[in-house]
Amino acid sequence: MAIGFIGGSGIYDALPLEGVEEHEIDTPYGEPSAPVSVGELAGREVAFVPRHGRNHQYSPTEVPYRANVYALKELGVERVLSSNAVGSLREDLPPRTLVFPDQVFDRTRRRPYSFFGDGVVVHQEFAEPYCPHVRDHLHESARAATDAGLEDGGCYVCIEGPQYATRAESEWYKSQGWDVIGMTTIPEAKLAREAEMCYATVTGVTDYGVWKGTAEDRLQEVLENAAANEEAIKSLVEHAIREMPDERDCDCGHSLAGTINTPADAIPEETRERVELLLGEYLDD
Ligand SMILES: [Zn+2]
Repeated sequence: MAIGFIGGSGIYDALPLEGVEEHEIDTPYGEPSAPVSVGELAGREVAFVPRHGRNHQYSPTEVPYRANVYALKELGVERVLSSNAVGSLREDLPPRTLVFPDQVFDRTRRRPYSFFGDGVVVHQEFAEPYCPHVRDHLHESARAATDAGLEDGGCYVCIEGPQYATRAESEWYKSQGWDVIGMTTIPEAKLAREAEMCYATVTGVTDYGVWKGTAEDRLQEVLENAAANEEAIKSLVEHAIREMPDERDCDCGHSLAGTINTPADAIPEETRERVELLLGEYLDD
């Protein structure tokens, strides 16, 4: 089955795909950030979306997260790899470290977090926001394919942006023991779970965040480090796709089982049609 990749800041033409076709996909949740590029890598079908659009025109608040995830689902994607640029909240995670978070603290507040609602109520587990298997696989791929500093696990605090944190906020996040700060893993991870797709991310540290250093230092640093991270992330994602096990070995593929509270016959017809791709197998008699 196809593998999806949602690339973060700077990653617009990510992978050496062969036979690429651009898919203009219109979803019940609008259009994705860009046409989805579908091609082959090592005999596997890969679908790529640049999260912020080809010209980086969508802010973290404006990214059409639902359309991006839905489009990948429609293309038959089962596993989604993702990348995000982040700031470090720890002295020992310097710029250019690649961090593979296993937890998230959500500080966003104005995004669409679900495909559902409008007459269908779904409560899923989200205690583990990332697929543990794909997360491990990404980390192993980074060990094999890059010489970057790596951190296995960590908590990603996701803020709304687009401004960076205040010094008080940054110091508070740091005092909680959280590891990296960014703006885009939520709601993407939630939506991938709702679409029963495996999802994990590699985050590239661009700077230390506002708890350390001046704004002038950070601006130049962010750009240079982002470029270096981008190269390492492309290498590891390519490796991860080449070496991805054929079959999934996790629970992501049936994560909706037993989570739909609304009886099928009580779901409004219009909603039912909109969620058919995602819930259809659970609603059919
Ligand atoms: Zn999984």
